Amino acid sequence: MPDPACLDSRQRSRFLDEIEGQTFDLLVIGGGITGAGVAREATLRGLSVALVEASDFASGTSGRSSKLIHGGLRYLAMGDVNLVRETALERKRLRRLVPHLAEPRWMLAPARSRAGLMKFRAAITLYEKLGAVTQPDRHRNWHEDDLREHEPLLDRSAYAHACAFREYLTDDARLVIANLRAATRDGALALNYLRVEAIRHESQRAVGVSAACTTSGRKVEIRAKSIINAAGPWVEELMALDAGPPLRRRLHLSKGVHIVVDRERLPVRNLVIMGTEDKRSIFAIARGPSVYIGTTDTSYSGEAKIWPTIERADVEYLLKPIAKTFACDPIRPDEIVAAWSGLRPLIADADKAAHEISRRDEIWVGGSGIVTIAGGKLTGYRRMAEDVVDRALEAAPALSPRACVGEEKPLPGGDFDGDLDALARPLMLQHGQNEARAHRLVRLYGSEAEQVTSLGRETVVAGGDIIRGEISWAIEREAAAGLEDILYRRTRAALYHASECEALLEPVSKQLQSALDWSEDRRTSEVASMRDRLRLDLAFRDAAPEDAHD
Ligand code: FAD
Repeated sequence: MPDPACLDSRQRSRFLDEIEGQTFDLLVIGGGITGAGVAREATLRGLSVALVEASDFASGTSGRSSKLIHGGLRYLAMGDVNLVRETALERKRLRRLVPHLAEPRWMLAPARSRAGLMKFRAAITLYEKLGAVTQPDRHRNWHEDDLREHEPLLDRSAYAHACAFREYLTDDARLVIANLRAATRDGALALNYLRVEAIRHESQRAVGVSAACTTSGRKVEIRAKSIINAAGPWVEELMALDAGPPLRRRLHLSKGVHIVVDRERLPVRNLVIMGTEDKRSIFAIARGPSVYIGTTDTSYSGEAKIWPTIERADVEYLLKPIAKTFACDPIRPDEIVAAWSGLRPLIADADKAAHEISRRDEIWVGGSGIVTIAGGKLTGYRRMAEDVVDRALEAAPALSPRACVGEEKPLPGGDFDGDLDALARPLMLQHGQNEARAHRLVRLYGSEAEQVTSLGRETVVAGGDIIRGEISWAIEREAAAGLEDILYRRTRAALYHASECEALLEPVSKQLQSALDWSEDRRTSEVASMRDRLRLDLAFRDAAPEDAHD
């Protein structure tokens, strides 16, 4: 049985040997939230599991979401009552399993009039009923005085009222890592940078895959009794490897962009809904020293990419509602400090625009027995994982779950009562962290924040937010193999602490060099490509405004 250190990047070649040397019950392709959830669920049922991810864990859609654990009020308006009920209930479960990654926050629906407020209230009351929301978390109505106190930036001359209701904020990439760590703690083997290139068949059944390590070029053969395709926007590519080119497209990809500004520039305190000119809703979400704004929802017709291009038009679309919602000067594109974009793998629905398509998930079982899961939401990942494992068990009679672990344990970092302030206190008192850093650490690492800090409490950059211990933790416990993994998906510096990023490149790359035995050439090329990546994220700033389209 693999040891729980299998997310230690320093031991990667050993784990490549191990993944090749055995036949697993289940092989999961794709290390986003869907795949990570399936791996976790399968280990809970006592199955032996391997998971392979072509790039880094959560480098696809699952690192690019709006980071909300929510029932999706807007899906109620679309009539998707079941989806809303299920995801609203799921929030509670996640709060129990991983409280630092399901933080209750107030979401504001601003209203121009009391009549408008009543309209929101009716919808939100139904939403709360479906999600079995308890009294302390039920919505409240804020009028001018409350708004002055709780959300002073809201333009009260336009919006004198707001309905404040509970939504939960997560960190998507860290939720993926938490699930993978739980799965590996219970015996799974999970490897990033291992791309599936071919499916192996015997008597027309899929029995394994050939995969290539994208860092060393090494090829491995992996055998499994059942294979799950959880490749998100790439599921159709995997289906084609299994059964040849498809007769029709099953996915409709939709691009979603977020932009980030410093909180000092846009001092929003909560999560605020803003209306767009095309009658959609987008959010301004306050998080630490930043506010992020998103998302767009536009059909995407090209080949699925890890880094879909952010166009100037996407940015202008997101900026427009800000000056109409808040009492502030319009924000210029050159004031944006970070941005990200991702692709939603939606189930195709003829004649519907991307934003009208349901976020439901579907499971397809191919003739070879491969089980494909597509669609869905981050919020509903646990229920999706249960359904997928059920279907895999049905489709592969050779599989029989060995044990059921019973009551599910919290995910790593989640074994505390949800009181983040209490967790942050020792970090301040005993580990010398300031308040902002201590809160940031407990939000990202939960009850493990103290362990992370004990690996190196000093900040990487003088006066910065990221501490040394996080870099060691990412390499030794979270399979981080390069700068991009650490800055985008482990510490999240590239998203929420963008101003610190340039200064992090040299010291973090040196820490990686010494831990992973990199040559100096390797280190400098990592720095150069990370610098390119950060520049490309903000390339829209150089596009002429007249390039933008509405
Ligand atoms: P992915 O995360 O894309 O994972 C698939 C993985 O498969 C990728 O990492 C990829 O590298 C890997 N892969 C591909 N090919 C291969 C191969 N050959 N071999 C091995 N691995 C391979 N949901 C919410 O609940 N709340 C939100 O706030 C929210 N906001 C969103 C905002 C945006 C802009 C977007 C785009 C989506 C949002 N969603 C949200 C939806 C949610 O993010 C997705 O449903 C979810 O992340 C999909 O996860 P996934 O694991 O299926 O796909």
